[in-house]
Amino acid sequence: MAEIQLRNLTKRFEDVIAINNVSLETQDQEFLVMLGPSGCGKTTTLRSIAGLEHPQEGDIFIGEKRVNGLSPADRDIAFVFQFYALYPHLTVYDNIAFPLKAAKVAKSDVEERVSSVAQMLRIEHILDRKPSLLSGGEMQRVAIGRSMIRRPTVFLMDEPMSNLDAKLRVEMRSELKRLQQQLGTTAIYVTHDQVEAMSMADRIAIMDHGQLKQIGTPEAVYNQPENLFVAGFMGNPSMNLLPCRFDSAEQQLRLEHTEVAIKLENQHIDLIRPEISDQLVFGIRPERVHLSTTPTTSNLQAKVHLVEPLGSANIVDILLGRDPVGEFVLLRIRTHPTLMLDPGQVVWLHLEQQHIHIFDRATGEAL
Ligand code: ADP
Ligand code: MG
Repeated sequence: MAEIQLRNLTKRFEDVIAINNVSLETQDQEFLVMLGPSGCGKTTTLRSIAGLEHPQEGDIFIGEKRVNGLSPADRDIAFVFQFYALYPHLTVYDNIAFPLKAAKVAKSDVEERVSSVAQMLRIEHILDRKPSLLSGGEMQRVAIGRSMIRRPTVFLMDEPMSNLDAKLRVEMRSELKRLQQQLGTTAIYVTHDQVEAMSMADRIAIMDHGQLKQIGTPEAVYNQPENLFVAGFMGNPSMNLLPCRFDSAEQQLRLEHTEVAIKLENQHIDLIRPEISDQLVFGIRPERVHLSTTPTTSNLQAKVHLVEPLGSANIVDILLGRDPVGEFVLLRIRTHPTLMLDPGQVVWLHLEQQHIHIFDRATGEAL
């Protein structure tokens, strides 16, 4: 059963469309990550599910029930906010127990449930402390504990780790994921960090300007982007995206402002309709181009422009040409860190045919 279902959801703030006709559903016990740049509508979507915003159009279902008219308290949802606040005068124990006390749960039950939540979050040793004596990571766990304690059917988390330092974020990533599996609860987790999304999600829903651009497994959104936005957003360094046209006589893609012609196989050629053939974008990920410093059978020969060492890999910019305003047309490649290259050096390139992407420049859609 889908725990959460959005049907044609639209939310406007005066002339801003924060959510633009979004439909999606979570799968049972899924960890769904909603990913997109700042301002794309992630928070508004979560707040709408929680009942804190009221969309003008569309339906929200939790389980079988349409909840549009229900108050937040009647939706059986836990919400962990980006800017969580603990009660400073209460101990960790009382902060976590707070929602149960408010609901008048018996004292012995409260003790048992706080203890079990604290154990899961590994914060049993700090239950007596006040928030002012906690580290950022501990405060975050307490905030999560407080939202878990009611045993909600759905967990909503809005950039819950944005206040933590990088190392702690990596740790909390796997902990949160483990916790969600242990609880067996459906979760929607919002982030603008694609690494977080890739590593935690069962599926990723990618948003831009209020629209859902693609939803799928991390592997699918990375390897089969359905449009230019997703192609450019996922991956660091991002996918090479270069304007091109299709030369039907030669069955080649010609990259604009370069001498580069890329021979295509039938699987790609079959997708190119004549009316769009001179308005295309060629895409390939930096790790799907291989280079050789000695001549190969490849007819794609070019010069190294710049080498950026990252430690675990080098990012090499290859100069393909110059556009009319004098900007460099570059192809970025990820290479092994031990491969030494100098600017100006000639290299031979091999593109993995299976990983070539072609987009319609006008619509941005993948062919
Ligand atoms: P995200 O969480 O992805 O950064 P938000 O959902 O917060 O994005 O915002 C989506 C859009 O809606 C933004 O353009 C934002 O400025 C606008 N918005 C959000 N909340 C309000 C509000 N209460 N009043 C007016 N505009 C808002
Ligand atoms: Mg937000």
